[in-house]
Amino acid sequence: MPDIVIIGAGLGGLSFAIALKRKLGFTDFTIFEKAAEVGGTWRDNIYPGASSDTFIHFYSLSSDLNPEWPSTHGSQPDMLAYWVRLARKYELYPHIAFNRRVVSAEWDNKAQRWHVVTEDTSGGRAATTARVLISALGILEVPRYPSIPGLDAFGGTVFHSAKWDAGADLRGKRVAVIGNGTSAAQFVPYISEDPSVQVTQFCRTPHWFLPPIRTPISTRWRWIFRHVPLIMWLYRVLLYIRAEMAYLLVFHHAFLRKYSTKVAKKHITTTAPEADVAHLIPTYDLGCKRIIFDPNYLVTLHRPNLSLNWDGIQSICADGIITKNGEKLNFDVMIFATGFIADRFPLEIRGTDGRSVQDYYEEQGGPKAYIGTTVPGFPNMFMISGPNTTTGHFSVVFSVEQQVDYILKFVKPILRGVVSSFEVTPAATDRYDARIQEMLSRSVHVSCTSWYRTGEDGRVSSVFPGPGMLLWWWIRRVRWGDYRVDAASTSRWNGVVRRRKVGRLVMWALYVLLSLAVVLGATRGWSGMITDALRRWSVHV
Ligand code: NAP
Repeated sequence: MPDIVIIGAGLGGLSFAIALKRKLGFTDFTIFEKAAEVGGTWRDNIYPGASSDTFIHFYSLSSDLNPEWPSTHGSQPDMLAYWVRLARKYELYPHIAFNRRVVSAEWDNKAQRWHVVTEDTSGGRAATTARVLISALGILEVPRYPSIPGLDAFGGTVFHSAKWDAGADLRGKRVAVIGNGTSAAQFVPYISEDPSVQVTQFCRTPHWFLPPIRTPISTRWRWIFRHVPLIMWLYRVLLYIRAEMAYLLVFHHAFLRKYSTKVAKKHITTTAPEADVAHLIPTYDLGCKRIIFDPNYLVTLHRPNLSLNWDGIQSICADGIITKNGEKLNFDVMIFATGFIADRFPLEIRGTDGRSVQDYYEEQGGPKAYIGTTVPGFPNMFMISGPNTTTGHFSVVFSVEQQVDYILKFVKPILRGVVSSFEVTPAATDRYDARIQEMLSRSVHVSCTSWYRTGEDGRVSSVFPGPGMLLWWWIRRVRWGDYRVDAASTSRWNGVVRRRKVGRLVMWALYVLLSLAVVLGATRGWSGMITDALRRWSVHV
C-alpha cells in the first residue's frame, strides 16, 4: 500500500513525483495513469501544429531547464519528449501504473486513509489505500462536445482535436471544423495546406489575435545556454518579468489594454482577408477569452480551399450540417475543436460526509478550492492545477511548482507521523474565494463566455485573478490557522506550531540585534567598537 497516490502522470503528477524524490527523498508513492505513456495534455493533443504559446524556457521545470529547445515555444513532440526524459531521469516509470485509471476514492476517517479503486483497460478493478491523495488531473482533461441536435447521426469520420485521428486521410475530403479557439487556429493552417482538402470552419464568436511570437533559437544561443547555465537562468528570469509585464498590460489597466487592443485589431485587419475582418474582430474585452498568438492562421484564411461560416449550426445530419439559415452543407469529415469541460470534477472522490468533489462544486455554484489546492471535507487530498490557478497567459509549470511546494509542507508532517490528516476549514475557503471572486468580478473575464467560467455566465472558476507574483506570495507559506488536524494529532501538532512560532520569534530577535549592531558599528566605527570591547575585556581580565 503506497503512502501517496497520485492521479495522473501529466505535468502536475510528474512535477509532484519529482519533488517528492528530489526534495524529500521519498519513494513510497504510486501514480495511476489511464493511458500508456506519461505527458497528459502533451501526450493527448497530437493534432498537427499543436504547440505551446508560453515561452518554453519558462514552461519547463525550474530544476530541469533545457538548453536544447530549438525555438522560443515548444511544439507537442518536443514537449512530450521533455517530460518523458524527466520521467526517465528521475526513475519515475517503476512508480507508474499505466493503463489504469482511478475510478473512485473515498476517505476513511477511522483509518485516516483514502480507499482508492482503480480499473485497467479490460475493466479489471483493484483497490488500494493511501495516506495522501494528489489529484493531478489537469484542467484540459475531458474533451467537450457541443449539444447540437443530430450529433450522433453523422455517418462520416468524426473526431475531437484532443483525440486526433492520426489515421484519417483528409485528401480530397470535405472537412467541417467546428470551433475557432486556440486548438483550431493551430491545426487549420496544417490541414488546409493541401489544396485538395476543402475546409469549412464553423465559428460562433471571434477571438482576439496578437502577432506571432514564435522564433527559432540559434545554435549559438543554444551553445551559450548549454555552457553557461547562469545565462539560461537569467534568460528565464527575463521571460518571467516579460510575462508579468504583459499580464499587467493586458489584464489590469483599461488604459494599457487599449494599446494592446489596438495592436490586435491592426494585426487582424492587416493580415486576414478583407471580407472576413468584420466578423473576426471581437466586441468583448481583450483577454476575456484566451488570446491567440497567431500561429499564421489569419494569413491562411486567404486560401481558396478554406472558408469561414458564421451562420451557426442548426443540426447535424447523416451527411452534413444544416445551418441556422437552413442551408445544408455536405461533409465527409467533422472535427470538433470545441475545447474541454473545465467546470466539472471528472472523478468520484468522496470526503468526510460522503459528498463528492462535484457535489461540493455544485453547492458552491462551480469549482472552488482554497488557493486552488484544498477543499473542505476532503482531508489529505491536494489538487494540482485546481480551480482558479491557471493564469491565462502565464506558465502552467510556474503555478504547478508553487502548488507542489505548498503541498509538500503538509506532506512532511504527515509522513513523519506528526499529523494524520489536514483539512482546510470551510470559513478559510469561503474567505479566500470571496476575495478572488471580488477581484474577478472587476476583471475582463466577465465580459464574455469562455471555458474560464462555470456554464455560460457563471462564476469565473478557472483563472487566477492576478499576476504570477501574487499567486507565489499567497502560496509561499501555509497559514496553519486555516487548517484543522485530526483529533488524535491536535496536541502534538499544536506543540509543533508553538515551537515554530518561538523559533521564528528568536530568529526575528537575532535579526533585530544584528541590525542594531551593524547600525551602531556604522555610526561609531567598527574599529572604535572593537578597541572599546577589547579594552573593557582586558580590564575585566
Ligand atoms: P476553446 O478555446 O474552449 O474553444 C472552443 C471553440 O469551440 C470556441 O471557438 C467555441 O466558440 C467553439 N464552439 C463550441 N461550441 C460550438 C458550436 N456549437 N458551434 C460553433 N462553435 C462552437 O478550446 P480549444 O481551442 O481547444 O482551447 C482550449 C484551451 O486549451 C485554450 O484556451 C488554451 O488554454 C489551451 N490550449 C493552449 C494552446 C497553447 O498554445 N498553449 C494550444 C491549444 C489549446 P465560442 O467561443 O463561441 O464558445
